[in-house]
Amino acid sequence: MDISKHLIICIILTILLFPSYSYSSFLVFLLGLLIDIDHYLWYSIKYKDFNPKSTYFFHKKRLKLKTVDRLHIFHTSEFWLIILILSLNYYIFPLVIGLVFHLIMDFSEMPLNSKNLRSTSFIFWIYKNSFRNL
Ligand SMILES: [Zn+2]
Repeated sequence: MDISKHLIICIILTILLFPSYSYSSFLVFLLGLLIDIDHYLWYSIKYKDFNPKSTYFFHKKRLKLKTVDRLHIFHTSEFWLIILILSLNYYIFPLVIGLVFHLIMDFSEMPLNSKNLRSTSFIFWIYKNSFRNL
């Protein structure tokens, strides 16, 4: 998903949530926008390239690439569960709203018949990769 679309949605959500959550509504940006930092982390570690532009262009052409099994740690179900538990605190709940809208936008961009190149479970990713190197 293009970062500008995430930014626009985060601004709208923050404006809508501000009357109820006051300054906590800015937490929407944390998981609505900054969650994609895990793309940079994964790419930098895997390819030993810490240039943000390289990460950006790599993920821009992702559908053409054969690379599979990407671990974007903040896009895994285990991370989502932690955030869900934390959000039981009323003032942290905007985090979940940011996360849900971010994921809806990410998944809506994927073609229906495409193979998901991202691992959705950290535990499953470890399990798969522990046998790959044997
Ligand atoms: Zn994302």
